[in-house]
Amino acid sequence: MSVQFADIEQAALRLRGVANATPLHTSRTVNALTGASVFFKCENFQRVGAFKFRGAYNALSQFTPEQRKRGVLTYSSGNHAQAIALAGQLLDIPRLIVMPQDAPPVKLAATRGYGAEVILYDKHKQTRETLAESLAQERGMTVIPPYDHPHIVAGQGTAALELCRAQDVDVVLAPCGGGGLLSGTALAAKGVLGRVRVVGVEPALADDATRSFRTGRLCSVHNPDTIADGARTPSLGALTFELVRRHVDDMVTVTEKQIVDGMLFLWQRMKLVVEPTGALAFAALHSGVLKFPGQRVGVLLSGGNADFSALKHLL
Ligand SMILES: *Cc1c(COP(=O)(O)O)cnc(C)c1O
Repeated sequence: MSVQFADIEQAALRLRGVANATPLHTSRTVNALTGASVFFKCENFQRVGAFKFRGAYNALSQFTPEQRKRGVLTYSSGNHAQAIALAGQLLDIPRLIVMPQDAPPVKLAATRGYGAEVILYDKHKQTRETLAESLAQERGMTVIPPYDHPHIVAGQGTAALELCRAQDVDVVLAPCGGGGLLSGTALAAKGVLGRVRVVGVEPALADDATRSFRTGRLCSVHNPDTIADGARTPSLGALTFELVRRHVDDMVTVTEKQIVDGMLFLWQRMKLVVEPTGALAFAALHSGVLKFPGQRVGVLLSGGNADFSALKHLL
């Protein structure tokens, strides 16, 4: 079950009038600083505050009547949980979210706020996959994972689809956790523009996808201690690894300091509230890790759910 450009076009039709068509922002300061023309795709203004609503809604809207009745189950402590919670609410599908006991209280509250049932687990005693599988069996629910699923990838690709339809660019930069967004971005950008480069950006502390990309073997990291919590995933999935290898042109990493500097620049200079993972792609440009003089660069700002109580020491 792979993903084609046509799947992203169809996802865009499903999302029409439901997901926000997020704005493109530009900044003369950023252009002067980088020598490029930079176009920011602002998914921090997406519903639930991140692009993950796109994939979640695309997946749930394709459930059969029987699946809709029985419900959806997922495991995530982050934006995917909130995305499934809201998408399921809109489609009237029961949803069960398995979250670690130590998930940030704000994220728990947000997920419950969208009417999802939350089950907490102890990271040291259970793995979320086994717990999720047994609960799904018991209740007959469909599991929708956060990235390694064709409908998730196709939905995530609609952000870059909008970007590239609105603006011709030479290169698109996207953050990478489990690779759902990056896979969809590469398929969408190339489907619309043909000759465009797509580069993925990861935290150096969670560089599994970059190593996988370089070596051609699926590499992993164990509990990476990066501030970019959306990129703490252990590895690419089977599907996203294949798509990243086939369609992405390069992968780079940024340090924790580069992530923070990029994020604070977006907050202060552009008034764009992004979370650390949301700033990854820009951090590569802002720090000079990537340089595209004279070129048009699309940058995905993937989300804005910054946990300010955890970040306040930065100020
Ligand atoms: C999930 C997430 C990512 C990473 O997306 P993947 O599809 O897992 O690679 C990046 N930024 C934000 C804000 C996210 O929530």
